[in-house]
Formats: sequence, structure tokens, C-alpha cells
Amino acid sequence: MLQDAFGRKFYYLRLSITDVCNFRCNYCLPDGYQCDHDRDFLSLSEITRLANGFSQLGTEKIRITGGEPALRKDLPEIIQACKGTDGIEHVAMTSNGFNLLQKAKDWIDAGLDSLNISIDSLDPRQFEAITGKNKLDDILAGIDKCLTLGLTNIKINSVLMREFNQHDLNQFFDFVSKTPITLRFIELMQTGNNLEFYNAQHVSGQQIENTLLEKGWRLTTRPKTAGPALEYQHDNFAGKIGLIRPYSKDFCSTCNRLRVSALGKLHLCLFADEGLSIREYLDSDNSLALQNAIREMLAEKKPTHYLQQGHTGATTQLSMLGG
Ligand code: SAM
Ligand code: SF4
Repeated sequence: MLQDAFGRKFYYLRLSITDVCNFRCNYCLPDGYQCDHDRDFLSLSEITRLANGFSQLGTEKIRITGGEPALRKDLPEIIQACKGTDGIEHVAMTSNGFNLLQKAKDWIDAGLDSLNISIDSLDPRQFEAITGKNKLDDILAGIDKCLTLGLTNIKINSVLMREFNQHDLNQFFDFVSKTPITLRFIELMQTGNNLEFYNAQHVSGQQIENTLLEKGWRLTTRPKTAGPALEYQHDNFAGKIGLIRPYSKDFCSTCNRLRVSALGKLHLCLFADEGLSIREYLDSDNSLALQNAIREMLAEKKPTHYLQQGHTGATTQLSMLGG
């Protein structure tokens, strides 16, 4: 079992398989994807060894992320490799959903257990203003398709922004009243590249949390491999509402996840000062050296991210690592 100096246990790996993205979300890649390195991303066999090494250390859940993970042609094989690893009970993915309608069946057949889709507005024009893509209707149709195919563990992620969706929250609540999925509001985080945008657009999720409690929403219990969201349910709503509030007090005390970039670097925190290379341990099936390296590196994990102090570490934008 992986445990850090503060007693936190790590059951959950977020694995980026590419940093390339085809969207231009205003808070993440406003100028689109710019490549400043070789696109030498982890191969299927490296990913298989990585999953095996982490599972030997107690990891039970892997979230595949990016960039946009659905841009990888071998995505079904990657899902299958993670799912086929002894000890990995849950394979999840975070995607912008651009090809969900066409690919949902392949991913489900490969063993995908759950899916998070990013939708920052339910107004098609606003969605396009945020992402640069006129794709909202396709993405919503893709979600319906997943539900029809039996993939019901779907969550929508919406980044809260003062001018882009803050006034539209009722649209989200109407959607959740009828649709049996969880919608999570994420507080916009500062990254190395978005300070001006962050200062203009960041809003706290506290007001939403207060409103939920006033209106009789109840906090659900959090499984040990859950992400950082606090999720609320209400008898009159088919779906749930979640809040991810990285700026809230004690947010990091329940941290249970580690991250590996598409170039094979271990990031002990989303806002760590550097990624620590573990790629050299992925060229052999003997995973002991990999396991020892991860254990040693984990000793350096800090108690918190220091985002409140404006510390964004090496993270220029979240497409580097997958959020
Ligand atoms: N491309 C995929 C997607 O958008 O779902 C996966 C990668 S994306 C970096 C993962 C998540 O991070 C998305 O839900 C996105 O909205 C969120 N995200 C990106 N930049 C963010 C920021 N500065 N603050 C808060 N959330 C952010
Ligand atoms: Fe791409 Fe996801 Fe970043 Fe949007 S949030 S630009 S979809 S990586």
C-alpha cells in the first residue's frame, strides 16, 4: 500500500496518455494545442507495465485522461490493458466527448467502467464560445447513447466562470432534475498560463453549496477511490450535484491520487514543482524497480498544493496532466 508522510493512502492513479487536445477551452488552451516536445507518449506496453506496477502497490482505480485521450487511436487497447490488470477494479476516463457518439460502444466493450465528460455550458452558443467547438448537441447525444448501452456511471464536469456560465446555473439544475447523472461544478484553478483569466473569472463554489443545503440536498458518502468532489442528492432530482473546491480548507487532506504524465513522469500533486521520471523503469516486465522508485518519490509529497498562495508549480495548463 502506498502511504505518504502524512498518512494519506493512494488507491487511485490518473494517467495522461497524450497532452494533445482538439478543443481550445478558454481556461486551458485558449490558443489551441502548441507542441514544445517530441510527441513520444507512453506506448501500450509501457502503460501495461505502469498499470501492473501501480496495482502491485495497491492502486485499484485508473483514470485515463489527457489532453484529449480520445485522440489516441489505441484507446480501446489502453482501456483493455488497464482493465485486464490484476487488482485494477475500476477504469475511468475524462474526455471532452468530441467522438463519444461514434466510439462509446468500443470503449464500453473494452471495459470502461465510468466516464467524466466536460460540459461548461448547456447553451450551444456559449459552449462554442468557451471551447471553440460547435459540438454540444453531439456530446449530449453521445451521453444518451452511453446510457442506452448501459454505461450509467457518467459525470459531467463544469468549470465555474463568472462571465461564461455563472448566470446559467438553473439550466444545469433543470438538466439534473431529469437526467440520472452527476454534474460537478469545479472551481476554476490558477495555472502558470491563465493568471489574468483566473483573476477575472474565478468564483467560489461556496454559494452553490449553501444553496444546496438550504434546499434540502444531502451529502452522500465518499468511497475510498472517489475523486475530490463532495456529492449531494435530492429526492426530486434524478441526478446528483457535486462540488470540487480546490481552494477550500483541508481540500488536500483527503488526497488519494497520484498522476503520471503522457511522457512518463510521476507528479505527486497537480501543482508539483516537477514531474519525476519513471519511464526508465517501464522497459522491463520486472516491476520491483518501478515500485521502489515510486515509494521513494512519494516520501517527498507535500501536505498541500499551496494554490491559495498562487503557487502553480510546473503546471502551465491542466491539459499537460489531465486535471
Ligand atoms: N480533455 C479532457 C476534458 O476536457 O475532459 C480531459 C483533460 S481536462 C484537462 C480535465 C478536466 O480539467 C476537465 O474537466 C477540465 O474542465 C478541467 N480543467 C482544465 N483546466 C482547468 C482549470 N484551470 N481549472 C479547473 N478545471 C480545469
Ligand atoms: Fe482540451 Fe480538456 Fe483542456 Fe478543454 S479542458 S482544452 S478539452 S484538455
